[in-house]
Amino acid sequence: MSFGAWLARPEILPWAALLFGLCVGSFLNVVVHRLPKMMEREWQAQCADLAGTELPPSARYNLILPRSACPACWHRITALENVPLLSYLWLRGKCSACSAPIGLRYPVVELVAGIAAAYSAARFGFTPAALGAAIFAWSLLALAAIDYDTQLLPDDITLPLLWAGLLFNLGGAFVPLKSAVLGAVAGYLVLWSIYWLFKFATGKEGMGYGDFKLLAAIGAWLGWQALPLTILLSSVVGAVVGISLMAFAKHGRDKPIPFGPYLAAAGVIALFWGEAISRSYLPISVL
Ligand SMILES: [Zn+2]
Repeated sequence: MSFGAWLARPEILPWAALLFGLCVGSFLNVVVHRLPKMMEREWQAQCADLAGTELPPSARYNLILPRSACPACWHRITALENVPLLSYLWLRGKCSACSAPIGLRYPVVELVAGIAAAYSAARFGFTPAALGAAIFAWSLLALAAIDYDTQLLPDDITLPLLWAGLLFNLGGAFVPLKSAVLGAVAGYLVLWSIYWLFKFATGKEGMGYGDFKLLAAIGAWLGWQALPLTILLSSVVGAVVGISLMAFAKHGRDKPIPFGPYLAAAGVIALFWGEAISRSYLPISVL
């Protein structure tokens, strides 16, 4: 039996995907941590450029360099301490050098990325759709975490995600190409319109342009037909989380709660369970 045929076996593929997804999750942690800082550096460089001044030379900073280190004591993370999930458990969530606690975020992101890959593999089998579903879920996971931290949805992720959705649907991996193109356009326009209506009505900005691009990307993957459900789900998830935050965590009412994580969660739910939800709960709708 060839390696491909062995890998494609339904009792092997989800486990292999889980391991691969855990590693991708480890990389996503780096992206979530570093991409906003890289964007900030780029903006500073552009501002300095416009002002005709020069920034002092700084050390190289990208997704590869410098090597990961403990933020408390700068202890270099060794390869053995960088094994997804296992290292966190082995180190009991503490830096091996200074015992500073390691954020629970790291193993959680790794685990979610692993489970998303395993579920995609179990659901779609050894197909391009399985790879696509995993890429979709991983990207949304990174976007949700970055938006939660910084209130930013980087173009470096939303735009490639949109194009990747169109590419996967060239062959109709999830929806026909026509639905995907219309989904990308409609996704952007819907939130853009709501943004301007809200701004005219209240003078406030309810969301950002990153949210429009994110919904455009979701539309490119799932087609325009999935947009009503995605918006509905994100509002429901947002309301539930928002109300519980206010009730239990004393989250200030005026503190901004970014919309991106809810959109991202809704996109993943719509991809995996959208059809089932529409069928069971929205029988007479246009969905
Ligand atoms: Zn340390």
